[in-house]
Amino acid sequence: MSNLPSEPEFEQAYQELALTLENSTLFKKNPEYRIALKVVSIPERVIQFRVVWEDDNGDLQVNRGYRVQFNSALGPYKGGLRLHPSVNLSILKFLGFEQIFKNAITGLNMGGGKGGSDFDPKGKSDNEIRRFCVAFMRELARYIGADTDVPAGDIGVGGREIGYMFGAYRRERNKFTGVLTGKGLHWGGSLIRPEATGYGLVYYVGHMLEYAGVKEGWAGKRVAISGSGNVAQYAALKCIELGATVVSLSDSKGALIGEVTPEDIEAIAELKVNRKALSAYPLKDNLKYIEGARPWTHVGKVDIALPSATQNEVNKEEAETLIANGCKFIAEGSNMGCTLEAIEVFEKSRQEKKGDAIWYAPGKAANCGGVAVSGLEMSQNSQRLAWTREEVDEKLKGIMKNAFYQGLNTAKEYVEASEGEFPSLVAGSNIAGFVKVAMAM
Ligand code: GLU
Repeated sequence: MSNLPSEPEFEQAYQELALTLENSTLFKKNPEYRIALKVVSIPERVIQFRVVWEDDNGDLQVNRGYRVQFNSALGPYKGGLRLHPSVNLSILKFLGFEQIFKNAITGLNMGGGKGGSDFDPKGKSDNEIRRFCVAFMRELARYIGADTDVPAGDIGVGGREIGYMFGAYRRERNKFTGVLTGKGLHWGGSLIRPEATGYGLVYYVGHMLEYAGVKEGWAGKRVAISGSGNVAQYAALKCIELGATVVSLSDSKGALIGEVTPEDIEAIAELKVNRKALSAYPLKDNLKYIEGARPWTHVGKVDIALPSATQNEVNKEEAETLIANGCKFIAEGSNMGCTLEAIEVFEKSRQEKKGDAIWYAPGKAANCGGVAVSGLEMSQNSQRLAWTREEVDEKLKGIMKNAFYQGLNTAKEYVEASEGEFPSLVAGSNIAGFVKVAMAM
């Protein structure tokens, strides 16, 4: 599966998928799928390139650029671009691999891919970001297209960066096409795309609550959220709209603990657009800031946890603390938000059906709303029309419901479980996504 001496993130994503397939009845029922697993674990194509750009002092800077075109059995490669100093091939292969199955779960015709650069947008001026994005797209443009590979945003890439890249692609290729998603509303974007990952996550958990017999749904629930980007912001707003209390947000430097209001979220969104840290947020009585912390061990009693920052942001100890503090549902807004050890803790708790059991939903199902609305943006672009907010939101709700029941029913079909145990959403979602891709291949 790996061909470099060390690809820890990719190895982890592969293990997570392979273990759940191995522990199910899938290979017994369909031995031919073993080779499909081997085939799907190797990217169809990896593109690496150099990005040279000029900083505000007129000095040249250079970064590494990548696009992993992982699997196109279901449609054009689809997946975001991440701009972060940690970006390397292992991280992009893990993200691209996850994206294959996530995209399959949406039910839309999209293959899986991911790209980005080790460029750090923090501390850069708008002009520097623009020059980087234009230089990045000048190279990437040769390899993508509306029916070939359709990138979007991820960490470090929002509407502004997509705008710079879209403009560069249009000039470079003399084409106005739906080659990127997450575009602005006036130039081919879709309503609800910025909100989609966060809203979709909350809709997905709504089905978990319903299945678990929680009659009041989100109302009155205490929710721990990490992150303060696009996903965290809109997940938090939707939770509050549905009557829940959000008790944390965070960024890579620290955590904000206390009841977060929609006004706080609006102000934090503004802060983030200006690439400022959460520590710059002026505190009021309702909030305290803990430097260097992640929320999980500081939030006290919570009902629901939504990791929405980045990979491996919940470890074993944090998983145990969440359970000890009464958390009953955890769903990832981030990709691979939980370590393998943390997932093991959650899955064990679910299987043992103890009074303190928790139910875990993996990112490839719970956060598929973002790429799903990207798929809807592609459809609107192809038809050259725009759907209303209500239309897109209804479609998103349908896709999230389907993502939940696909995982649930596939687990019932392929995973042995004892009476009364909630089905494993991680196994069910992995198998459901994998089978679709394997059949198509
Ligand atoms: N980066 C997002 C994800 O991890 C969205 C990708 C897209 O819209 O293509 O799913």
